[in-house]
Amino acid sequence: MSVVTVDYKQEGDIFDIQRFSLNDGPGIRTIVFLKGCPLSCWWCSNPESQRRRPVVMYNEAECVHCRRCESACRQHAVTFTDDGVRHFNFDACTGNGDCAAVCPVGALVMKGQHIDVRSLIDILKKDRSTFRHSGGGVTLSGGDPLMQADFARELLKACKAQGWNTAIETEGCAEPCDVLDVIPYVDHILMDIKHMDPEKHRTFTGVSNELILSNARKIAAFSPLTIRVPVIPKFNHSEKEIGDIARFAASLGNTECMHILPYHSLGENKYRMMGCEYKMNRLSVASLSNEELEKYRPIIEQAGVRCRIGDE
Ligand code: SF4
Ligand code: SF4
Repeated sequence: MSVVTVDYKQEGDIFDIQRFSLNDGPGIRTIVFLKGCPLSCWWCSNPESQRRRPVVMYNEAECVHCRRCESACRQHAVTFTDDGVRHFNFDACTGNGDCAAVCPVGALVMKGQHIDVRSLIDILKKDRSTFRHSGGGVTLSGGDPLMQADFARELLKACKAQGWNTAIETEGCAEPCDVLDVIPYVDHILMDIKHMDPEKHRTFTGVSNELILSNARKIAAFSPLTIRVPVIPKFNHSEKEIGDIARFAASLGNTECMHILPYHSLGENKYRMMGCEYKMNRLSVASLSNEELEKYRPIIEQAGVRCRIGDE
């Protein structure tokens, strides 16, 4: 049996760890959210994931308007108007955390943590009996874990060395060599396919889908995968658009399931806290329910792919 060496000193950036998840692979799982994403989807519910560096979240309800953050920020990213309204320039912020360090009431929270594989495995070990009893394990999410391919690979290898099941949630918009470097250490691949039209994909996510579709074919040649589709009103919420994705998923020849997820606006408040626009408001659309997606089940199954809707 070949011995896999792990670089436990490999460092990366994460922004959250969520325990006891039932929706991101088999069994009960712990999700590690890695920072950095090449996409900026209008509906993204984790906007704090998109930049690799830490981001600052502002909770206006806690703020006592002492203006210490304005004085502390060397980038002049924080300013107050004469009548005390706080303005934040997200693009000018470097994420150094000087403002959060001086805030007396905890109204500013930094999202992002630099950590090495050894320290992260030590944190994850507290769930090892849950993994063993439920058949679960560790899922890397984001952002897109493939944006930190070296860190993701070593972390996955370290999980395998513990005997844990591994999964990855990816947008698939990464260098093909990074994709092929990581997938040998993944038991379950969950990959987003959002739209088959490259221009519409670019408008709503910031990038074309060509590399993503090409990587999906590469992954399918090595491993079974689940295709995940966020169903978004005025983007892909139609029988034609979901059917096109289903037929692509079937053509991969190795798709275990197409998992469609109803749009929700739960992330909207985070955009406010980051001083960014929630672009879905331009469309004036409401959240969707699982029931509203039922009409897609026969279309997906007719394409020859098993269908899963929401948290079923
Ligand atoms: S984290 Fe951003 S806003 Fe805060 S002090 Fe640093 S640059 Fe300024
Ligand atoms: S330092 Fe904190 S409490 Fe003071 S103005 Fe800034 S965010 Fe508000």
